[in-house]
Amino acid sequence: MTKKIALVTGGSRGIGAATAQLLAQQGIQVVINYQKNQLAAEQITDSIIAQGYQAIAIQADVSQEEQVVELFKQIDVLDGKLTMLVNNAGILMQQSPVSELTAERINKILSNNVTSYFLCCREAIKRMSPNNGGQGGAIVNVSSAASRLGAPNEYVDYAASKGAIDSLTKGLSLEVAAENIRVNSVRPGFIYTEMHADGGEANRVERVKENIPMKRGGQPIEVAQAITWLLSEQASYVTGSHIELAGGK
Ligand code: NAP
Repeated sequence: MTKKIALVTGGSRGIGAATAQLLAQQGIQVVINYQKNQLAAEQITDSIIAQGYQAIAIQADVSQEEQVVELFKQIDVLDGKLTMLVNNAGILMQQSPVSELTAERINKILSNNVTSYFLCCREAIKRMSPNNGGQGGAIVNVSSAASRLGAPNEYVDYAASKGAIDSLTKGLSLEVAAENIRVNSVRPGFIYTEMHADGGEANRVERVKENIPMKRGGQPIEVAQAITWLLSEQASYVTGSHIELAGGK
C-alpha cells in the first residue's frame, strides 16, 4: 500500500511540532518544514524517529514562491504520496495599534501568513487531485480566534491575515470538493507557545486567561488533536468547516 505523507509547515515548534508528533504516531510519514530554527526541527524529527516513526525536516521559507516549489519537489522524491497538508507556519510582530503600522510590516505579515498558505495549497492540490493522478487528500489551515476577535491594540494585521485564511478555506473547499480534497481550518485562541514572545509579551496567555470562559490557556496538543481529526477518515464528510479552540472565548 502507498505510504501517506503529511507536510506540516512550521512543524519545528509549538502547534506544528505537536501535530507532527501525533501524525507520525498514526503511521504517517511527516515532513517537518521550518524556516530558521534548525536545532528545533532536528530535535522533533530525531525524537519521532527514535520512537520508531518516520519524519524528515526540510528547510524552506514558505512565504517565498520558489522555496515552496522546491519544498514540494523534495517531497515528490520521497517514498509515498502527499495526501495531507497542515498550513501552520505563521508569524506575529510587536504589539502595536493600527495607527503605527507600516506598509513593510503589513506586507510581511501577509506574505508569511497568507501568501504562504495559498502557495502550499496550490502545490498540494496539484499532487492530490485525481485529475493529475493523485488520490485526493485533506488540508487543514491553522487560522486563529483573532480572525473574529480582531486583536485590537495588539496585532490587527495578524488578525486580518487569519480572516483571509478563513476565506481561503471556504473558497478552496468548494473548488476542490469534487476532487476528493477536503479543506478545513482550526481557530486556536490562547495557546502556550513561543509565538507570544514575538509580540513582545511572552506571558500573554497568563495575563488574559481570567477573561477566557474556561479560565486557562490551551496546550499545543489540544490543537493538534483537532487538526489530526480533521485530516483523518473520521472527518470524511467534513469540508469547508472550522473548529474553535479558544476555551469558549
Ligand atoms: P511558534 O511556536 O512561533 O512556531 C512557529 C513555527 O512556524 C515555527 O516552526 C517557525 O519556524 C515556523 N515559521 C514561521 N514563519 C515561517 C516561514 N516563513 N516559513 C517556514 N516556517 C515558518 O507558533 P505557534 O504558536 O505554534 O503557531 C502556529 C500557528 O498557529 C500559526 O499559524 C499561528 O498564527 C497559529 N495560532 C497560534 C496561536 C497561539 O496562541 N499560539 C493562536 C492562534 C493561532 P522556525 O522554528 O524555523 O522559526
